[in-house]
Amino acid sequence: MKRVVMKFGGTSVGSGEHIRHVASLISNHVGKGYQIVVVVSALKGVTDDLFEASEEARSGNRDRVQRLLQKTTEKHVAAARNAIENKPILEEVEQTLKTTLDELEKVLTGIAYLGDLTSKSKDYVLSFGEKMSTLIVWGTLRDLGLNVQYFTGKDAGIVTDSNFGEASPMMKMTAHQVMQKIEPLQKKRIIPVITGYIAATQDGEITTLGRGGSDYTATIIAAALEADEVWVWTDVDGLMTSDPKIVPSAKVIPELSFQEAIEMAIFGAKAMHPRALEPAMEKEIPVRIRNTFNLENAGTLIVKEQKIKPKDVVKGITLIKDLALVNVSGAGMVGTPGTAAKVFDMLGKDNINVLMISQSASEANISFVIHGNVLERAVSTLEIALLGSGLIREVSAEDDVCVVAVVGAGMKGTPGVAARIFGAIARSRVNVRMIAQGSSELNISFVAKETDGEKAVRAIHEEFKL
Ligand code: ADP
Ligand code: ASP
Ligand code: MG
Repeated sequence: MKRVVMKFGGTSVGSGEHIRHVASLISNHVGKGYQIVVVVSALKGVTDDLFEASEEARSGNRDRVQRLLQKTTEKHVAAARNAIENKPILEEVEQTLKTTLDELEKVLTGIAYLGDLTSKSKDYVLSFGEKMSTLIVWGTLRDLGLNVQYFTGKDAGIVTDSNFGEASPMMKMTAHQVMQKIEPLQKKRIIPVITGYIAATQDGEITTLGRGGSDYTATIIAAALEADEVWVWTDVDGLMTSDPKIVPSAKVIPELSFQEAIEMAIFGAKAMHPRALEPAMEKEIPVRIRNTFNLENAGTLIVKEQKIKPKDVVKGITLIKDLALVNVSGAGMVGTPGTAAKVFDMLGKDNINVLMISQSASEANISFVIHGNVLERAVSTLEIALLGSGLIREVSAEDDVCVVAVVGAGMKGTPGVAARIFGAIARSRVNVRMIAQGSSELNISFVAKETDGEKAVRAIHEEFKL
């Protein structure tokens, strides 16, 4: 019997009808003999709304908080009513939804009173989305006569560090606990239905695994249970040569290696959380990305071995927006060992993730790319720490840039790929600000103005006839 962890993204559970469809999809696979663990994301848009509600609560905008609560309530009640037919089950789900929403209101009121929102309290607010969606999926599966049990990520045994907002699992302890809690159910033919995205520290405080983190929950559970496969169900046919919203002619990539998929995810292919592939890769558990609404399509298979064929030198092109380019300069840096180390050490301590780095040959400046929302923090950290030292003279930044990344294992050792990429870019009159080639040679990425990003992606897509 094949043991598969199936994760359903917010786009798959956007409404009651869709949840009903997902439940019958699960039921059909149980009928075909699959042993399934279900992982569920928040309903489409809910995590964004909770995010906003927590910020509005901090600023004391109670009317806005009330409106968002109202919207969240209506969305979940309507979804439950459209998904679940059986009256007693629906009543039970509605009752639990009500208690959950009351608690959410209390938490937001507390934040509004204090005017204080920590990353810990924010994670607590964000955890409500998955709690409610998973409850509805659980009820719908029961309605279809399946034997199911509801778990939060915490109850399922996922333990993380206390890096709230972007927590990392402690795999050894997690594997042990998940095995203890989930494995026995499988033997009893009970289907575990687990909230994605949320987990807890060793002290039991709620954490989240970072945006899009339900993918990560699925692979963590799969690695712990040594499942046969992970299926990530979403609203597109698989991992594609580019975001179909940018390049309408983008095609599904039938198969790619973990390394290639990781590069694509890190560089913005939203269909997969960047770190989600780590637990699966380590245990060599194949990951499939499939379309909930197009079951005929086999989707994308992500596996260990790379199949390099001459025709697919370039596999995919991704775009990350909302980035900032920071430039640190000063003659004091020339010939002073360790300046770069100091800069990145400061940023690391401040939990600022650096996407790309380049240092000019003269050594008089270092440029790097970070997410736009941490720009202010990064600049002030560097200014406070380094300007006084005389080592650097200036920290400057541009906050309207994007990174385009071209990914493919076949690029390694194939001459002329970079020339073709930059030729295509030049012809479409996009100005390149900075270039980097990962040492893995699996990707070539560059920085351009944000307004040029989509044009650049389309030009490269065309050049390689993807
Ligand atoms: P889910 O709710 O299933 O987690 P996401 O919104 O997180 O869905 O991810 C799916 C979306 O990712 C797709 O709708 C698509 O627009 C976007 N996307 C961006 N890049 C790619 C890519 N290379 N291949 C497939 N989808 C992509
Ligand atoms: N609901 C979370 C988010 O929107 C996690 C996920 O969807 O994977 O980021
Ligand atoms: Mg996602």
